[in-house]
Amino acid sequence: MSFVPVAGIALALLASASPAQEVGGAPRQAAVDYPAPTALPKANEAAVAQHLSAARKLAGTDLFADMAHRCIISPVYPVRVRGIQFDGKITPTKVFDQLYSVGQNAVSAYVLKTSAGLILFDTLDNADEAKTLLVPNMQALGLDPKDLKYIVVTHGHGDHYGGARWLQQTTGARVVASAIDWEMMEKGPKPGVFKDLPLPKHDMEMKDGGTLTLGDTTIRFYVTPGHTPGTLSAIFPVTDHGQRHIVGFNGGTGGGRDEAGLRASIPAFARWGELTKAAGVDVLIANHPLHAETIEKEELLRHALPGDPNPFVVGADTYQRYVRIQAECARVQLARMGLSE
Ligand SMILES: [Zn+2]
Repeated sequence: MSFVPVAGIALALLASASPAQEVGGAPRQAAVDYPAPTALPKANEAAVAQHLSAARKLAGTDLFADMAHRCIISPVYPVRVRGIQFDGKITPTKVFDQLYSVGQNAVSAYVLKTSAGLILFDTLDNADEAKTLLVPNMQALGLDPKDLKYIVVTHGHGDHYGGARWLQQTTGARVVASAIDWEMMEKGPKPGVFKDLPLPKHDMEMKDGGTLTLGDTTIRFYVTPGHTPGTLSAIFPVTDHGQRHIVGFNGGTGGGRDEAGLRASIPAFARWGELTKAAGVDVLIANHPLHAETIEKEELLRHALPGDPNPFVVGADTYQRYVRIQAECARVQLARMGLSE
């Protein structure tokens, strides 16, 4: 470490007050140009307050981060999402006896191992990520991509189907999506969401209430519109050190993006709540790490002491509150747009 004379500190302070200062070699923006919260000129503030109050009551302390993300940070301070939801490598992690997290920092991918092969949920952004991140993550966990039998696309946004065509071609796995989201993918690129991505060859269309059985494992699927018109959500069993649990994997925790999506999501989440309650869902996973503190939970899991609970097992009551928070945040967002349910 070099010695800095006092005069040098004074000069450095003067320099840092200049508007042309640099941060890490890049010119810093003038403060007047800093990103601002989303403009909400039509907001019905009384209704926003009412639904935010309901959401925070549902959240309590254990789901505060989930409520804050969906109700506040993502819709009002999107720059904060971009700050943490960037493309990056994460440590692949076995999260249950049969479920493996093999995605990246910005978007998740999970492998479900059955007695007759592997089922992959989502394929990351593109072929490069599938090849360079997803496959090596699988291999690091002892999973052979050649054993992939099905690839489930939870919804038709490019960050979930981007690697599907390459994986379909290289492994021969069947690709599953809802008919509605197959159509959405095939309608073509949507600027700002995904572009110039090769589509997987049109394959299996999963119906609402349909099942997929591979070996000893059956997944039940439901179409839960909101995030996209044909978002697929899944319910399936896993074990944690032999203890049985039921996973609720909602494919649309990114929420509605416009009025139609928000309106569609409210009854869809209500129905998802009933379905997951009836199925005894007690495990929460999502298809973006940011939507369920996935990276933090995986870090804890990899460092769990004997007897420490699996952080993905939230319990049936908490799971239901999580789902109700998603719907309540949609109501908050409609109120911000000056609309009501
Ligand atoms: Zn999406």
